[in-house]
This record gives sequence, C-alpha cells and structure tokens, in this order.
Amino acid sequence: MLSLGRVESGDFMGEHRIYNFSAGPSVLPLPVLERARSEFLDFAGTGMGVMEISHRSAEFEAVLDAAEQGIRRLLDVPEGYRVLFLQGGGSLQFSMVPMNFLPGNRFADYVQTGTWSEKAVSEARKFGEVKVIFSTAESGYRTAPFQNELEISPDAAYIHYCSNETIHGVEFPYDLDGDGIPVVCDASSNILSKPIDVSRYSLIYAGAQKNIGPSGVALVIIREDLLDRVPEGRPSLLDYRLIAENRSMVNTPNTWGIYIIGLVCDWLAEQGGVAGIARTNDRKAALLYEVIDGSDGFYEGHAAREFRSRMNVTFRLPSKELEARFLEGCLDRGFSGLPGHRSVGGVRASIYNAFPIEGVERLVGYMREFRRLN
Ligand code: PMP
Repeated sequence: MLSLGRVESGDFMGEHRIYNFSAGPSVLPLPVLERARSEFLDFAGTGMGVMEISHRSAEFEAVLDAAEQGIRRLLDVPEGYRVLFLQGGGSLQFSMVPMNFLPGNRFADYVQTGTWSEKAVSEARKFGEVKVIFSTAESGYRTAPFQNELEISPDAAYIHYCSNETIHGVEFPYDLDGDGIPVVCDASSNILSKPIDVSRYSLIYAGAQKNIGPSGVALVIIREDLLDRVPEGRPSLLDYRLIAENRSMVNTPNTWGIYIIGLVCDWLAEQGGVAGIARTNDRKAALLYEVIDGSDGFYEGHAAREFRSRMNVTFRLPSKELEARFLEGCLDRGFSGLPGHRSVGGVRASIYNAFPIEGVERLVGYMREFRRLN
C-alpha cells in the first residue's frame, strides 16, 4: 500500500513554480510530484523506476491496487462497481459508451450543455440513435437543466450528461437521477472535487489530467450488471467486460499514470478526502465569483449563477483589448493558462483540487487592481 509521506512546501527545493491555471493537463499536488521524483530511479527498492517495471510484477500489482482502492475510498464506491483505468483519454469514452451500450434497435438520451457533451453526442451518432433531450446550445451554453426540467425517455438505453463543462464553465450542482434509466456521466473535470453518490450512476468516466493524475489515462467506474450488456465482438481494447475481467490489463496499461493516480489519492485523503477538498474548492471559487459579481459588470461571468463551475471559472472583460492586456499582466505575474478555450475566448481560471488557494487570492488581487486601473 502506497502511503504518501507528508511533504511540506518548505521541502520544495526552490525550483521555479508558477500558478498554473490550465484546464488540463493541469497542476498536480506538489507533494505528489516530489514523491514521484524521489522514486523516479528506484521504486520500492526495485532499483528500477515505476515506468521501467513490468506491469505483471508484484510491485505494479500493488500500484494498481493502491490506485483502485484510493478511488474506491475517496468516492465511497459501493459494492457491485468496478474501477478501471483505460487509455484513450476522456474522448474515447464518447465512442466506447455507445459501442458497448447502444444496441441497434435502441436509442440513448443525451443532455447537451457544452462542447464536451456536444462531442459525446456526435461520436455516439456514429454508432446509433441519439435523442438530445435538453440542449443549451442556442443560448451559448450558459446553463444546465434542473432535474425537473428533464424528460428522460422511459425506453432510452441510457442517459448521458457531462457534470462539468470544462470550456464553458457550467457545472451540474446535483447528481442527475436517471429515473430508472442507466446514467452515464462524463465527470472529467469535476470528479474528486466533491462527494458524489456513485450509486446513482451506471457509468462514470473521466480523463485523468485534471483532478486525478496525468493525461493518457481515463478512470471508469462502472456498475457490474452493465457489463452483461456488452455485445459480443467488440474490439478487445474497447470492450468494458473484457477490460474488467482483466483488471484494466488486457494490454500494457499506462503504468506511470496509474502510479500517479495512487499518489494523488493519498494526497487527497490527507486533505480530508473529497468532503475536505470540496470546502476548499468552494472557497476558491467563491473568491473569484465575488470579484466578478462585485465588479459592476467589468468582469462578466459566462455561466448562469446556479450552474457556475467550481473548477473552471469563465469570464470576459469589456473588450478584446482589455482582455489581451489583462492576460498579458497575468503572464507577468506568473499566472499561466488563463486564456479561455480557443473556441470561446475570454478568460478561464481552472482551479482544480491541486490548485493552491494562495494562487486564487493572487489572481483576485490582480483582478481588483486591473479593474481599478481600467
Ligand atoms: N470531457 C471533458 C469534460 C473534458 O474537459 C475533456 C478534456 N478537456 C474531455 C472530455 C476529453 O478528454 P481527453 O482530452 O482526455 O480525451
């Protein structure tokens, strides 16, 4: 069992670190990086680094176990669910979900609240019939539906939604209830940021590179009974049942990624688990939204209040010129990754679990100053 020794920031060896507001890949907890560095050349006394040891070795089995148990503990994953680590990022799940669970004679409900759920819809359409039961595309992806606004089809194969739209900064403030229909959730950008009720979901997936670990590995939490629905003949690496049967090792998994996930889980447990980090996340987001709300419209948030993301705070300034100057000033202050996604522009502050609150305070200070001067 891996356990993360406490590494205080004072142990940090003085390298130049900046405030990384990137949407993903994004900042990882410093103690995790330090620990990985300390084990880089010699993991667990093997005389080899984690990237060099066999995925079939006892040492790697322990790494995989640590990652899986870490996720299980943090999210309180109930019995009857499998925790898997796949490749292909979050995006491959857009295809794998319909390939496995959308038979030719059925359709699936999709909720479309931003670019990522839109991509999930267009991938799913390559495999079967999709019914978009709620879309906020026309209003520029600023909101999400409340549960009582959703009319879930009683005969849908599943309902898919994205719990946090990373680009638009729109987050569901609740676990969607499928009303008996299996719920599939893309939680790439808010997983592990707060407690969720896993039992409400049939499948949760997340690209790791925001709150879980490095890029190149995706977490899938899947209810076991769903595995029985996987049709015969899926390509092996796209077959959830086969992947579950082989404990995520149909082929060589992303061993390094899984190792880092185990360390991130240990770090998160030390932060008081997802409940503990949720309190910090709420404070961080509130600091930014307070400045936006108190700016008399100088900073204009993209998302409607009820659906503002606690992970990706998206906003605009009164003009493109001011935005460019603001972003320039960010770079001068060592704040990286703040330009909004190329498809929507503006500013986006991604403040995932590992992003320190001091960085948010610094940004907030700069936002106040910038507004005063402009
Ligand atoms: N879903 C969401 C919500 C995302 O933010 C992203 C990536 N930013 C993806 C899916 C796609 O993930 P990947 O790049 O790992 O394929």
